[in-house]
Amino acid sequence: MTEAAEKSVVMVTGGSGLVGSAIRDYVTANPKENQEWVFLSSKDGDLRDRKATEAIFEKFKPTHVIHLAAKVGGLFANMAQKVEFYRENTLINDNIMELCRITNVKKLVSMLSTCIFPDKTTYPIDETMLHDGPPHPSNEGYAYAKRLIDTMNRAYAEEYGCNFTSIIPTNIYGPHDNFSIQNGHVIPGLIHKCYIAKRDNTPFTIWGSGTPLRQFIYSGDLAALTVWVMREYHSPDPITLSVDEAAEVSIKTVALAVAKAMKFEGDVVFDTEKADGQFKKTACNKKLRSYRPDYEFVGIEEGIQKSVDWFLENYETCRK
Ligand code: NDP
Repeated sequence: MTEAAEKSVVMVTGGSGLVGSAIRDYVTANPKENQEWVFLSSKDGDLRDRKATEAIFEKFKPTHVIHLAAKVGGLFANMAQKVEFYRENTLINDNIMELCRITNVKKLVSMLSTCIFPDKTTYPIDETMLHDGPPHPSNEGYAYAKRLIDTMNRAYAEEYGCNFTSIIPTNIYGPHDNFSIQNGHVIPGLIHKCYIAKRDNTPFTIWGSGTPLRQFIYSGDLAALTVWVMREYHSPDPITLSVDEAAEVSIKTVALAVAKAMKFEGDVVFDTEKADGQFKKTACNKKLRSYRPDYEFVGIEEGIQKSVDWFLENYETCRK
């Protein structure tokens, strides 16, 4: 085979976000010969639009695609716009999958989420339980659009022999996150809150008792494992990318780690008038461990320190 024939072009949709930026950092630090990476943002074209998506595939001619682009949002947006969350994600996913089939892309890795799993389920959840019952009504538009990726990965494999798969991360955090207190996720929201408490000399108030447990994956780990999936994991069935069950931490542990990383010395208050949400949503990472028994995840304190440092360095320009 000639050198030119071996060259691969990996295109990352949604490449400007939290996960895409982490993949960019990972492949910059771990380059592979003859592998070119293209990171798309919505400025490169609207993936809801078939013609725009065709033009992107024509321009970059990807041999591999990591599909991250999605309409994402917090609880309120998901509840208020179920039609848009369903339709826009379905259009984006359909355009990407169909163009990957038509242009003979060798591998497509798409991103699901633990929040699309059945509302009424048993824990720990694993990859086989995705379709076992309806998702929580608050995000059913988003959840069904995402679930269909898994259904269609198997259909594309059966009918066309496509090598499409999906990954299921738990709660992601890291540099380039959305640090909005209203719409962001737990860790970036707490980082921003703690920053304001330090600046204004007020208590750092955490909603709820701080006792619920969650698994958090540092975006750098998710990036490394996503690239591994693209190169080494070849099954249409999804794989959960998560820290071990033993690495589940309480919201209180997270809040105290944020305060420490921020060098916040004021009062940390838990507002128990506010709802706690579900106590645990444990995901099982046995499948991942069967392939990567020795993979070492970044610890929560180290990951939070890196996230806080990035937030402080990029305060003026980051999403917040
Ligand atoms: P971000 O919100 O940080 O990034 C979303 C990306 O999608 C951006 O690059 C955005 O481009 C792009 N995008 C959105 N709409 C369009 C469109 N119509 N056309 C082209 N590009 C578009 O997301 P994350 O990095 O947090 O998430 C990536 C994936 O991971 C998503 O599929 C999400 O569902 C999933 N996920 C995320 C979790 C989390 O905790 N963050 C948890 C589980 C799953 P631009 O910047 O130009 O707007």
